[in-house]
Amino acid sequence: MATSPATSLLLSSGHRIPSVGLGVYKSPPGEETYGAVLSALRLGYRHVDTAQVYGNEADVGRAVRDSGLPRDQVYVTSKLWRDAYGYDKALAAVQESVRRSGLPYLDLVLLHCPSEPGPREGAWRALEEAVRQGLVRSIGVSNFSQAHLEKLSRTATIQPAVNQIEVHPFLQRRQLVSYCQAAGIVVEAYSPLSKGHRLSDPRVTGVAARLGVSPAQVMIRWGLQHGMVSLPKSVNPERQAANLDVFGFALDESAMAQLDGCEEGLVTGWDPVSQDPV
Ligand code: NAP
Repeated sequence: MATSPATSLLLSSGHRIPSVGLGVYKSPPGEETYGAVLSALRLGYRHVDTAQVYGNEADVGRAVRDSGLPRDQVYVTSKLWRDAYGYDKALAAVQESVRRSGLPYLDLVLLHCPSEPGPREGAWRALEEAVRQGLVRSIGVSNFSQAHLEKLSRTATIQPAVNQIEVHPFLQRRQLVSYCQAAGIVVEAYSPLSKGHRLSDPRVTGVAARLGVSPAQVMIRWGLQHGMVSLPKSVNPERQAANLDVFGFALDESAMAQLDGCEEGLVTGWDPVSQDPV
């Protein structure tokens, strides 16, 4: 457990990833996502997490370009949707994501979920090729169980740098997180605020009140102290600022114990981790 988590983590690809990233799932395409990403970059975010299926890659790319920040100072992730799995379709889809973003390359591209084994294997080879072609710096997966990861590692020539999964105090996936971390795969916690469902849980609000921070900051910091990247989503500049302001306090042992005790297997969205075939 890291009581002083770093502001970025080193990936197996050799690149660093900022520990807090802005999620843009359900951030409406067009001016709203553009404005949310631009505001976040001005507030100090250096990491944005989008996906083909969110429909807002172009808005993210435009905001990054308009921010005036050098390209290598902002970390941009996208994800390949399952209808583009299979080698040829996947390679074309990555090229299309890069084109849509208007950026010279993407920092990280993930398989969004395991889906079916055959097309998944082809899609992974396409991501490896995208790295060779310089379209993408690092590649990884999302919603993969240990069994999905073990199968992939047997044929991969580039091992996944990250596994992006739903994790928060109410869904901790401890075994999978330990497996990933032991295998050198960085865990990215999505829906780190439990989509808001447990922000008013008294154990979270109790810790927040004692430490003089907000419940959202407590949830984000809990993930960071467990060595994960955290991807809170907000389109509201005040909440964005608060969600990034998590490096000036620490959760002590009793706070971590209280939050570690919140496990209830709460899946707030979909669950390909346990549902997709190996
Ligand atoms: P989340 O970040 O846990 O929660 C977002 C919700 O909390 C929004 O309604 C947001 O509203 C609200 N919120 C944000 N900051 C807050 C604060 N400080 N206080 C109170 N409420 C706050 O949920 P998520 O969007 O599901 O997950 C985050 C990101 O993870 C996504 O955007 C996406 O990038 C990624 N994700 C990936 C997958 C996958 O399958 N790989 C699945 C789900 C999510 P406002 O916007 O109005 O502030």
